[in-house]
Amino acid sequence: MAIKLTRVEGGSVELSAEDLQSFRAAFKGQLLGADDPGYEEKRTVWNAMIDRRPGLIARCTGTVDVVQAVRFARRHGLLSSVRGGGHNIAGLAVCEGGLMIDLSLLRGVWVDPKQRSALAQAGCLLADVDRETQLHGLAAVRGFVSATGIAGLTVGGGFGYLTRRHGWTCDNLIAMEVVTADGQVQRAALDENAELFWALRGGGGNFGIVTCFEYRLHPVGPEILGGAIAWHGDDAAQVLAAYRELSAAAPRELTSVAVLRIAPPAPWLPKEVHGKPIVAVFVCHSGKVEDGEALLAPLRATGKPIADIVTRRPYVQMQSLLDATQPKGRRYYWKSHYLAGISDGLITTALAHAARFASPHSAILMFQIEGALNELPASHSPVGNRDAAYVLNIAGAWERPEDDAANMRWARDCFEATRGFSTGGTYVNFLTEDDGSDRIEAAYGRANLDRLATLKQAYDPTNLFRQAKAVTG
Ligand SMILES: Cc1cc2nc3c(=O)[nH]c(=O)nc-3n(C[C@H](O)[C@H](O)[C@H](O)COP(=O)(O)OP(=O)(O)OC[C@H]3O[C@@H](n4cnc5c(N)ncnc54)[C@H](O)[C@@H]3O)c2cc1C
Repeated sequence: MAIKLTRVEGGSVELSAEDLQSFRAAFKGQLLGADDPGYEEKRTVWNAMIDRRPGLIARCTGTVDVVQAVRFARRHGLLSSVRGGGHNIAGLAVCEGGLMIDLSLLRGVWVDPKQRSALAQAGCLLADVDRETQLHGLAAVRGFVSATGIAGLTVGGGFGYLTRRHGWTCDNLIAMEVVTADGQVQRAALDENAELFWALRGGGGNFGIVTCFEYRLHPVGPEILGGAIAWHGDDAAQVLAAYRELSAAAPRELTSVAVLRIAPPAPWLPKEVHGKPIVAVFVCHSGKVEDGEALLAPLRATGKPIADIVTRRPYVQMQSLLDATQPKGRRYYWKSHYLAGISDGLITTALAHAARFASPHSAILMFQIEGALNELPASHSPVGNRDAAYVLNIAGAWERPEDDAANMRWARDCFEATRGFSTGGTYVNFLTEDDGSDRIEAAYGRANLDRLATLKQAYDPTNLFRQAKAVTG
């Protein structure tokens, strides 16, 4: 049967049954068209605001399938997109009418405990890597929600509970296997294709499809001191001031995240606060447990905590503690800034906007990232922003399309009101569909962006990989 697919330059191309048959013969994985079982599930991503329908989904089983898919897209001039974990808020994994190259079957992880390194295929979720590495008491730098894909996270930068100690996720890359736009397989590392290696450490999906990442690992756990403490919203100003003091003085073993939101009906929170404003601080101390206990004592003595689940727990459990707050299928809209510090003005402004959440699922979060990443020069990798100490994420989340306008307005208002406290930088992986070239420049800085544009010309002159936050050559 013939099929119509969107072309990279716009318009569509009709592929004959023979064209499809020759692709099918070379491709070992599954090809899903719109009428096939499983298509609906695979075309949808974490953010329900994204509702695109690829013409064909190519579910790859290995590097050869990725090569075949790239060559097929090139041969027919197809619009294409790459799906890792499908968690990108802008829905970059899905293209309308084109070819979605789906890596989600590639979930292998191989750990070398002696070398303290791990190979992870590009369809892995964060939890896949933590599970295998923790068997050896090792960990890679991951994010805070375990269902996130490693691929998008790594090629956009990546930060989590270990960032203060070890930098961005992409600072911990040893090498990558990459399928480039010409359908060739390349190794990218400091000693091989060094410019491609540079570009992929933050430059997003603009330069090729990574099929396998090699990460440097670090001794962590398997048990850490971690969890969360929560207070009534009335205590929020006092708690955020205490959070500022705690985080400013804390050694790099302690990472903390402050959250303003409406209490969800979570079992760890008392029933009487469900639906009411709270402030919570999530903490992970990956050093000696006793040291962590001492560091947290002043925070625990602040105001009147309503819940405290900070305890000795497996690191893998800590890594999934926030998962339930971020289910697939809600509507999400985020805005973010990097901060050099937390001023009184920022606290007052954040509290004012937390008082007018347009949805009970929304939150304002402050992630501490200051530490190892600040020690490298801005040119070390495109992700840059080596002056950032915190990430402020204004995270709108709601259920119904009719509430889109109110929730997006809330996030934009809070974003504008907090702009003056920002370093001017932002995180490329938190950019939404409507963030334009000014925000991409804010994510990379002018010098890194210019270098990325030159490399885009070299590695993908026809802009085959255009379903990424654009770095045009
Ligand atoms: C709930 C939630 C929590 C998050 N928490 C964190 C966090 O703690 N820390 C953090 O740093 N980020 C975090 N993020 C942001 C996250 O890093 C990005 O959303 C990232 O894009 C997710 O990766 P993915 O593989 O799931 O992306 P996908 O949506 O599958 O892909 C997004 C884009 O990434 C690129 N890409 C994907 N796979 C490849 C590949 N194999 N080769 C080359 N390019 C590829 C492509 O451009 C693709 O279009 C979070 C996101 C969500 C939704």
